[in-house]
Amino acid sequence: MKGAEQLFDDVLVQKYGGSSVATPEKIQAVAGRIGDALKRSAHVVVAVSAMGKTTDQLIAMAREVSPSPRGREMDLLLASGEQIAVSMVGLALQARGIAAVSLTANQCGIHTDGSFNKARVRSVETARLVQELGAGRVVIVAGFQGVTVNDDITTLGRGGGDITGAVLAAALNASSYENCTDVDGVYTADPRVVSEARRIPHLSYEECIELAAAGAKVLHPRAAEICMQYKVPIHVRHSFSGKPGTWIREGATMMERPSVVGVTTDRKVAKVTLMDVKDQPGIAAHVFRDLADAEINVRLIIQASPSHERNRLTFIIESDDIDALKALVPGWKKAKTAGRVEVDNDVAKIAIVGSRIASTPGLAARMFTALADHSINIDCISTSEMKVSCIIAEKFLDDAARAIHAEFFGQAVTSESDEGPKPRSAKRAAKPAAKAAAKRRTPRA
Ligand code: ASP
Ligand code: MG
Repeated sequence: MKGAEQLFDDVLVQKYGGSSVATPEKIQAVAGRIGDALKRSAHVVVAVSAMGKTTDQLIAMAREVSPSPRGREMDLLLASGEQIAVSMVGLALQARGIAAVSLTANQCGIHTDGSFNKARVRSVETARLVQELGAGRVVIVAGFQGVTVNDDITTLGRGGGDITGAVLAAALNASSYENCTDVDGVYTADPRVVSEARRIPHLSYEECIELAAAGAKVLHPRAAEICMQYKVPIHVRHSFSGKPGTWIREGATMMERPSVVGVTTDRKVAKVTLMDVKDQPGIAAHVFRDLADAEINVRLIIQASPSHERNRLTFIIESDDIDALKALVPGWKKAKTAGRVEVDNDVAKIAIVGSRIASTPGLAARMFTALADHSINIDCISTSEMKVSCIIAEKFLDDAARAIHAEFFGQAVTSESDEGPKPRSAKRAAKPAAKAAAKRRTPRA
């Protein structure tokens, strides 16, 4: 991205997600919120996602004419959703007497590479944006889409509207990037599953990226990465409430920070096991080169050697990539790379995320104990500097999230909960309550 030097020193970039613009009434409300934003900042740029479930509906429609719709035509189709949304927001603003112009990515100059369906932004031209802002107009930009050097329309991958907001904020050197959504911030766990989950007021970029990468749905990790690189503060907040949400910026990490900042869950993963894999140099290279060429992201890799000559290779992919993976299997069989390939979509991933996870092994022990206390079996484990992830059966995911959240964040102390915390399992309940409570208060990490 270029051109952070020119410009105005008070650009505010907002992004509204699909649920915030799902109906004409909500679009009216968003127009009202943009009007409020203009009182805070004279120069407002807004990225908008497709209305409601439009993108899902377009994908379903494409599947009616093609078994696995991909590539250029698919992006041309999907980008239409955002084009509807920006023009609707533009019309709603103009109807309120607010000068506004809505732009596609092409009109705005958001250039990407040529990888359809998963394009990466190469640069953002600021000339048109600056011209429109200078003329006193709010600029509404179609999220999720870009344009190649050949003028082909691309999309940035599901949830890519966040990335559009971030690249605009970076290119315009915005004072902040407000990611407006249907929740009022980033939570310690998914509040729809864990009722005790609480809003996290401040996060560092690194924590936010890890939380997002581990499955928290609030902000696309690539958007947080871009804002980190360009030092743009992010405010994840509710589209329609004026309350503060979660601020993500440099130095947001307190020196004495609790080690675990959140528990994340992800159902949309599948486990792939290659059985009977030849034990010789180059085999893993072959498999993962194929996966990379098919643009399949791999989350966790485990190789085990049940016998001398044959290995077992297990890895986790996104459920959306199962078809693409299956297309690779015949090649592996033909090359005798693998004997049998199993794909299990009934798995899910749960992770704890935080700054000093690697240096505090006691945290992993507490996570595993919380699962064990609920008789939840762990299928695979992986750890990194900032997270510990487990693959478990998908049907236990909600229970696992509640158990692990209770372990690290305790039960909510609210006025309604006068019955006190419920026993977490038969085993735990058997322990004297006082001992269990004392245990919870003692930092064990
Ligand atoms: N409409 C796109 C999607 O559903 C992009 C977005 O909403 O951020 O993935
Ligand atoms: Mg799954």
